[in-house]
Amino acid sequence: MQKRDSLNLVGAACAAFPSWGAAEETLSLSMIGLALLGIAVLTSLSVWLIHYLGTMAFRRLQATISRLPIAAAIIRRKDGKLFYANSACQALLGVSKVGHRYYYPEGIGTHMVADVLRPLQLGTGFENVEDTLRISDHKSIRVLISGQLLSYRLQSAWLLFFTEPAKPGSPTVQLEQRIFQRVLNSLSELVYFQDKAGNIIGTNKAFDRFWRGRREEGLIQGDPTGVEETPVIHTWTTAPDGSSRLLETNKTTMTDEEGQVMGTLSISHDVTDWHEMQESLKQEIEKREVTEQILAQRNTLLNSILNASQDPIGLYNEHGVYVGCNEPFARVLGFQAKELIGKTARNVIDPEMLQEFYQSDVKVLKEGLTVKTDAYVILETGEPVWYEIVKSPYRDPTDGSAGVLLIARDVTERKQAEQQLADAIMELQELSFVDSLTKVANRRSFDEHLRKLWHSHMREQQPLTLILCDIDSFKAYNDNYGHQQGDHALQEVAQVFDSVIRRETDEVARYGGEEFAFLLPNTPLSGGETVAQKIHDKLADKAIPHGYSGISDLMTVSLGVATMTPMPSQDYGELIAMADKALYKAKAEGRNTTRLMAEQDEF
Ligand code: GH3
Ligand code: MG
Ligand code: MG
Repeated sequence: MQKRDSLNLVGAACAAFPSWGAAEETLSLSMIGLALLGIAVLTSLSVWLIHYLGTMAFRRLQATISRLPIAAAIIRRKDGKLFYANSACQALLGVSKVGHRYYYPEGIGTHMVADVLRPLQLGTGFENVEDTLRISDHKSIRVLISGQLLSYRLQSAWLLFFTEPAKPGSPTVQLEQRIFQRVLNSLSELVYFQDKAGNIIGTNKAFDRFWRGRREEGLIQGDPTGVEETPVIHTWTTAPDGSSRLLETNKTTMTDEEGQVMGTLSISHDVTDWHEMQESLKQEIEKREVTEQILAQRNTLLNSILNASQDPIGLYNEHGVYVGCNEPFARVLGFQAKELIGKTARNVIDPEMLQEFYQSDVKVLKEGLTVKTDAYVILETGEPVWYEIVKSPYRDPTDGSAGVLLIARDVTERKQAEQQLADAIMELQELSFVDSLTKVANRRSFDEHLRKLWHSHMREQQPLTLILCDIDSFKAYNDNYGHQQGDHALQEVAQVFDSVIRRETDEVARYGGEEFAFLLPNTPLSGGETVAQKIHDKLADKAIPHGYSGISDLMTVSLGVATMTPMPSQDYGELIAMADKALYKAKAEGRNTTRLMAEQDEF
């Protein structure tokens, strides 16, 4: 346009030359006109030259900045009108070029550019001022703007350079990238980046080591754009050492500042150990659950048994603490079951009984034996009870601690029966050794006693004395007083004889009918004589009337005393025979008297 204008001017100047040759008559007038024409031509030439030079300067400037790799534009200072934008600027800001004119993108009005530049217009230039330019309804970009004032076609204009703020590739960013890469490489997790198309655009060393030669295997299949958020993915794979490993991968979408999807970041952790731990933990839990179930069943079973049993059943640990029992058990100790649990034996059992209990507990706990004992307990109600107690060792399966299982059975009835039996036996024994009428030893007892004494005296070579006693004229007594009175008299006489016996080892026995025998161990004949005298005296003291005796008004006896120190060649029958002889003598010599017989005496 400017060029065309200039040519027009030159054309206008040339067109003026023909009129200069036709005006020869008046030189001065012509000279003036010529001068004026010259001035006009010169002026036109100067203006054209200035324009030309300006245009050339602009073209050089334009040629220079058009080749720059950074966005550059020339903008009128006063209103922001866009004179020129190089192709980098067109690309960056979305400037369009129609013919020789440049237009801002739809979103940017000239006044907006002017607004941006206004605060910077104090000086002749500025550098790297960061600002946001809205280049469309949806898009804004951050730019660093540097500007230089210049004169463009005689107008004040800004030569502006636009650069994007630190982007990958800048030195700062390179440093950041290096640090970032180093951090990534130090991670044991496998990291990789994918672009929107799913191409790997970066990995860390752990990823490279793990997936060497089989990179594709390491990629998580799925939407590469990452629009669909992938949940945590678990995959079993083979590690370079051949072991099976479980990888847990998180894939997240990376977006730019505008929220546009750039690609994805995937991080894989080796969770094999964790998984195995989880598995073994799961198995442990399952096992425990089974054990707990079995225990619960056993507990239920145990409780059913405990509650169904009328017999006291209790469990206590090695410290004597009750850990389980049924009501009958608690009742024996004066408690309810729930009160007793947790209490210690020494706080609830009588110390004496506890001591007895403890002795059997030691056998159960230390030697693992089952112990059976009887216990006589007086309940709170005052009722006496015999218990047969069985104590067995038990081990708590949950903590391995030892304890005692005690089962008691009420055996009072059995005990009573046993007692009655024992009493009966005793009675029977007594009966078999005691004379039923007089309650002194019977003949059987006498024989046995004599036999034993005979042998012991033979061993010890001690004198053994026997007194045979016969009531005088007892037939007459019976005949006159009656048989019943006779029996009574026999009882009275026996009582007197029993009172004569002083030594524990001495014995009086009913030898038969109205005859009695006294066995006096370790007693010489003289001792026998003394006892015989005592018998006479005590019977006299008793003064049992006998009006038909013929020798006295009272009941009297005749006694035959014999003493022997037994020899192996002899028989105890000899002692009896000797005493019998002596008695015979006493009878023959008047009754109510005593006769003695020693071994050397002649019959
Ligand atoms: P002697 O002085 O010689 O001993 O005269 P005796 O009458 O005592 O002697 P004898 O042996 O002839 O009589 C014994 C009598 O004792 C015969 C019997 O009537 C009486 N007798 C024996 N055993 C019992 C008994 O268990 N009860 C009663 N009531 N009398 C008895
Ligand atoms: Mg007789
Ligand atoms: Mg007699």
